[in-house]
Amino acid sequence: MQTDIEIAQAAEVWPIQKIAQAAGIEEHELAPYGYDKAKINLDSQVKRSPDLGKLILVTSINPTPAGEGKSTVTVGLADALAMAGKKTMIALREPSLGPVMGLKGGATGGGQSQVVPMADINLHFTGDFHALTSAHDTLAALLDNSLQQGNPLNIDPRRIIWKRVLDINDRALRNTVIGMGGPKSGVPRTDGFDITVASELMAILTLSTSLMDLKARIKKIVVAYTYDEEPVTVDDLGVAGALTVILKDAINPNLVQTLAHTPAIIHGGPFANIAQGTNSILATKTALQLADYAVTEAGFGADLGGEKFLDVKVPLLGKTPDTIVIVATVRALKHHGGVALANLNEENLTALATGLENLGQHLAAMQRYGVPVLVAINQFTADTPAEMQLIKDYVQEHGAQAYVANVWGQGGAGAQELAQAVIDTTAKESDFKPLYQAQDSVEDKINAIVQTIYGGAGFELSAQAQRQLAEFQRRGWDKLPIIMAKTQYSLSDDAKQLARPKNFTIHIREFIPKLGAGFLVALTGSILTMPGLPKHPAALDIDIDENGRITGLF
Ligand code: ADP
Repeated sequence: MQTDIEIAQAAEVWPIQKIAQAAGIEEHELAPYGYDKAKINLDSQVKRSPDLGKLILVTSINPTPAGEGKSTVTVGLADALAMAGKKTMIALREPSLGPVMGLKGGATGGGQSQVVPMADINLHFTGDFHALTSAHDTLAALLDNSLQQGNPLNIDPRRIIWKRVLDINDRALRNTVIGMGGPKSGVPRTDGFDITVASELMAILTLSTSLMDLKARIKKIVVAYTYDEEPVTVDDLGVAGALTVILKDAINPNLVQTLAHTPAIIHGGPFANIAQGTNSILATKTALQLADYAVTEAGFGADLGGEKFLDVKVPLLGKTPDTIVIVATVRALKHHGGVALANLNEENLTALATGLENLGQHLAAMQRYGVPVLVAINQFTADTPAEMQLIKDYVQEHGAQAYVANVWGQGGAGAQELAQAVIDTTAKESDFKPLYQAQDSVEDKINAIVQTIYGGAGFELSAQAQRQLAEFQRRGWDKLPIIMAKTQYSLSDDAKQLARPKNFTIHIREFIPKLGAGFLVALTGSILTMPGLPKHPAALDIDIDENGRITGLF
């Protein structure tokens, strides 16, 4: 059987100009990066007609090590829509090098449903993440320089919250000491590194609606507190202009294609726990302006990326989804039902029935928004007809329809029934109801998320989180949306509670105000912002030969 990279390398890839032309992007709006990649100039966005295409949001059940395949289904569904004669575009996130070299692999789909050039997208692509890393670390350097040059802003070196970043999993850099080496080598203090995708600049870049919005947001980032515990912002440091200059090209969305030549915009990659977890507003907007059907994806499960897409991104995007597709797999549902990874290829209808409760919660949560919801069963070769039928029956009993999508094996041809269902449901009126309003209290917002989306009983705040809430109210920061940083594996904040835990409480340890991004992060449990590498990192299996042929990327 061919690997993902073998399929991608064997693909016939069209010049990016041809893809752009078919998508309606004019030559002067395109900045090609070689043969098969391009940036779309930001100027072009504003000139489009205000009529937007239909928006299809792909999300999933709680991820398991068994794999769900959201990107694969997103790509396959878009190819199927294109095969059905619909003008379609994809909007996806850019992969981080951390997971590519670590455990999870890339984010270009799989099998016959991939975006290409696969290796480039998974590596340096058009340099967006490098630009973000540079901008983030420039700010860190300027902050330390302000300390060195007499500390005019009265910054307390023990209260600096702006760390440094790298786009690689490097646990040894989580906690560092810097400024060693005497008076000429900086002010000694503790510091640390996050992964680039966890930078607030990533969240900002992907939520910005224009270059000037990007600059305005960067100004508001809180980087530290003074000795009097007052916030210090990028505006106080006076460097928002310089940072925006570093990001001037990174803000432009990137254009590539699927194996079937459907245009795909891939831009930005914020995490779906400590940030909003979806591609940029500008990418989704461009796809909506150019195509009749824009298929996009939100990270992790519907409880994380899905909820954040609907409550944080939608208000800024100015467009609500016309259909939500929840991806589930027989394997992942059986894993939720207690089956060990080694036994997932055996039919087990009892475990599947238990695991289906996980899908049930996500289905109810997404249906609550008033948008039509469909389920896509991402078919694996070992799935049995009885198992797939059980999912279909369960979903039908819960007010929706499930469709088998063999997109990994067949590309768009394997999702024609799903595509037709999407076409039919998007034609209907949807009546989007937001989960909460900006003016609701922080407590009410969190309660809505915990009870309605997670199916939990309520939440508890640590003493520190309570103190912070009082401070946020004083500073007027409590009207921002909430980003719940929770484990992706469970509806609860305990990664081991699979399927559909009941009566649980979510424990909020700490809040992190991200004023540039415009949200408050609520940290539950220990969410790592600098992952480590596993015992057998993917990097051990990646190689290149004398002909430049890459193996081991997936
Ligand atoms: P997600 O977007 O949910 O993280 P991806 O679409 O990136 O998942 O898929 C993760 C991996 O699983 C990829 O390597 C892909 O090739 C593989 N995969 C996805 N769907 C299938 C399938 N139906 N059969 C076999 N492998 C699959």
